[in-house]
Amino acid sequence: MLKIKNPATGEVFEEVESTCISDLNFMFENAQKAQKKWKTTSFQERKDILASFKANLLSKKSECARLITIEMGKPYTQALHEIDETARRVQWFLDHFENFLESRVLGETKGIKEILSWDPHGVVVSISAWNFPYAIASSVFAPALLTGNSVLYKPSEICPLSGIKLREILLESGLPKDLFQTIVGDGSVAQTLLEFPVDGVFFTGSYETGKKIANTIKNRFIPTVFELGGKDPAYVCEDANLEKTIDSLIHGIFYNAGQVCSSVERLYLHEKIYERFLEFFYSRVASLKLGDPMLQDTYIGPLGREGNISFLNQQRENALKKGAYELLSGGASKDEPGFFYKPSVLLNTDHSMSIMKEESFGPIVGIMKVKSDLEAVTLMNDSDYGLTASVFTEDFDRGKIILAHIESGSVYVNSCTHLSPNLPWGGRKHSGLGSTLSLLGIEEFVKPKSWYLPPS
Ligand code: NDP
Repeated sequence: MLKIKNPATGEVFEEVESTCISDLNFMFENAQKAQKKWKTTSFQERKDILASFKANLLSKKSECARLITIEMGKPYTQALHEIDETARRVQWFLDHFENFLESRVLGETKGIKEILSWDPHGVVVSISAWNFPYAIASSVFAPALLTGNSVLYKPSEICPLSGIKLREILLESGLPKDLFQTIVGDGSVAQTLLEFPVDGVFFTGSYETGKKIANTIKNRFIPTVFELGGKDPAYVCEDANLEKTIDSLIHGIFYNAGQVCSSVERLYLHEKIYERFLEFFYSRVASLKLGDPMLQDTYIGPLGREGNISFLNQQRENALKKGAYELLSGGASKDEPGFFYKPSVLLNTDHSMSIMKEESFGPIVGIMKVKSDLEAVTLMNDSDYGLTASVFTEDFDRGKIILAHIESGSVYVNSCTHLSPNLPWGGRKHSGLGSTLSLLGIEEFVKPKSWYLPPS
């Protein structure tokens, strides 16, 4: 039985039965049967169902957003954006999958026609993080279903109700019931699921869990995508527009209480603007409202995972012990019930500190002063992770030159954190393997078939 806590109060508000092994057997067999039929359906039929899903999701926007807020603490205003973002991703896949899947004549050799077509994998597993329970799920289920797969979806134990809700809306939109099934439970349930002969695994979560999953499915030669953690850097050059830079970075560091895979967690400031930047930054951070995530003006809600408070405390204490100091007083908040953490900005940090090396996944950032672009590039690349990186400068060519040297899946000049379905989303090094979104994020759900046909 999963006990679901509201992180804003720390109280259990609902209990949900975990999926047991006999249910898993049944679900897997049904997913296989349903997929065999589904892969023969027309593109139009699949399109109609997913378009109807998008409309139904938007019509339930406030209900779904509220559920996100009470399950994982994201401020309601930000949860509403997540529903819009989910709809945007679904629409992108609706607009592009058909063209991608069209079989194509690619050549002719000695009178033999050479044609490329695509087959779905079959039953794919989606194991997902809790920080964007709808948006992350949609990067998998939308392309998976549109390309003819069935999906066994294991949301985080923190957000099972959102996972159940997603299925409810898909079924209401006309999806046959066994094509998308929600599996309730913790990591051990996910491990049991992975023992089944599934045809693909799409994982979003931490590097440590990613390694466990890779180990479980090793030697099986099934397609996998790993969207893992980050320790994303930003560098502010001396010519940056400070007002716009700080606007962007406040969002990049503290949105969703810093619980975004691409949150900016390391900040390198050119020495020439260091003091001026901190002066403006201080007042912006101090004005961020922390508290009840249902209130309109709350920007920082509680942490989704209670256990992360002690991890963030350790990181903060480790930095303070080694000579860092705080721009303003951060740390665990004792003023409210629930899992609140005040924004923490640590100065005088260095790379011997965990705050600059290990993913924090909270409203905390380490700041360092740098003398040159070369020093910034060296420090930005001094990481096991490589999800995103940003540079703020009015000289766009300089920004591009710096970012060309950075080992990251996505790079930004004068913005940070955000993503577009037009571009692949994926990490380098410990941040992952493979891509979601974009045409590459459709290709991950199909396998090519090469045809050699006589001329017609
Ligand atoms: P976890 O790795 O703890 O969990 C991710 C998922 O894996 C959850 O559904 C979890 O279930 C499940 N899980 C846990 N243990 C196992 C196991 N042994 N075998 C199989 N599955 C398991 O990550 P979080 O949910 O805490 O999410 C935060 C992490 O996700 C951060 O590192 C963040 O950067 C990353 N992330 C990456 C994104 C990207 O696009 N690159 C996007 C969003 C987040 P349960 O929760 O029930 O334990």
